[in-house]
Amino acid sequence: MIDVRQKSKHAVSTQFPVINNCLQIGGMPLTRLTQRVGGTPFYAYDRQGISERIALLRKHLPEEIHLHYAMKANPMPAIVQHMANLVDGIDVASVGEMGVALDTIMQSERISFAGPGKNAKELSSAIAANIVLNMESEQEMELIAQLGNKLKIRPNVAIRVNPDFELKSSGMKMGGGAKQFGVDAECVPLMLKRLGNLKLNFVGFHVFSGSQNLNADAIKEAHEKTFQLGIELSQDAPSPVKMLNIGGGFGVPYFPGEKPLNIAAIGNHLKHLLPDVKRALPEAQIVLELGRYMVAEAGIYVCRVLERKYSRGQVFLVTDGGLHHHLAATGNLGQIIRKNYPIMIGNKVNNCEKETVSIVGPLCTPLDLLGDSVELSKAEVGDLVVIMQSGAYGRTASPTAFLGHPLPVEVLV
Ligand SMILES: *Cc1c(COP(=O)(O)O)cnc(C)c1O
Repeated sequence: MIDVRQKSKHAVSTQFPVINNCLQIGGMPLTRLTQRVGGTPFYAYDRQGISERIALLRKHLPEEIHLHYAMKANPMPAIVQHMANLVDGIDVASVGEMGVALDTIMQSERISFAGPGKNAKELSSAIAANIVLNMESEQEMELIAQLGNKLKIRPNVAIRVNPDFELKSSGMKMGGGAKQFGVDAECVPLMLKRLGNLKLNFVGFHVFSGSQNLNADAIKEAHEKTFQLGIELSQDAPSPVKMLNIGGGFGVPYFPGEKPLNIAAIGNHLKHLLPDVKRALPEAQIVLELGRYMVAEAGIYVCRVLERKYSRGQVFLVTDGGLHHHLAATGNLGQIIRKNYPIMIGNKVNNCEKETVSIVGPLCTPLDLLGDSVELSKAEVGDLVVIMQSGAYGRTASPTAFLGHPLPVEVLV
């Protein structure tokens, strides 16, 4: 058994072993799993990999930190069920996700709902479900209070704060400057005054500043500033802060040269910061909400070579998978520069004979490019192309209706 890491030039930090040249997932060869699934293309997620990732977080983070799963990264119900046994809360971004989270054993007060533009119907369901509403605006607060009165339920609310700082080195910035997310920090004190006059159960603050960050120093700095901000804002709160959600943003390595996040450094820094936070906010649970980091590396996307096509000196592997299933791997999910995800030929991981190929899907658009001039084991028709690091923002972040091909299957093994 060898570790894929040593054999690949890619930034693969996968836990999947290789036996007899074949990738193993869920304790079985990929070829066997493909037979079990009934064909390609499909996503496979490794239950043990997810559990190990949560264990890694628990090992390095102070035990007082509450871990929440931001389920939009991968809302597959089986994964959310599994996750509910491992984490302390679930963050949802829609009523659809809320339904999946409520189907788990997770207590409703440990489920929170963030996102702009929540409408009255969605808010009413969430209030009735007794989850925590992360309010994105003052207008939303007024609506929640009205709906609570009507339903005769006192809603649990937190204020999502748009901080006055940015998360540096973040792949996607979601806080700082002018943003559609949260309430500008300088407007929060007034909002808190108003909140105190409404029939709302104030829970605390939520600060989420960005996504896909591999720079531990940047995250440490954001944590420090987030605590400062939370403590400062708490002075205007109508009741003690019970929850301070400091966001997440932990990234995973996708591209050559990217290194895994130094989680130990982040954990040590939190250990160092927590005593002061506890003194200032003695009743507050400190929450970290992570999506990508918890699931990305535990998932693969598998498609099959349908044809080897030659065009003016280049080799194209035409596959039955593509952009409609895995938008992010084609570089079209908000990436500025297209880079290849780690890819391998799953049933010929380490063949001596290599070939530089482009991997394309069946869509009639040049954007349908899963791999651009990648060196892989030489593949024939029928071989299995595997895109690694595919457990987050995969199927549900892809335009699956585009061109009307069938949906990819998803399995948790
Ligand atoms: C998307 C999102 C997350 C998860 O982000 P990841 O980068 O996947 O960890 C967490 N919190 C909020 C509010 C989000 O919108």
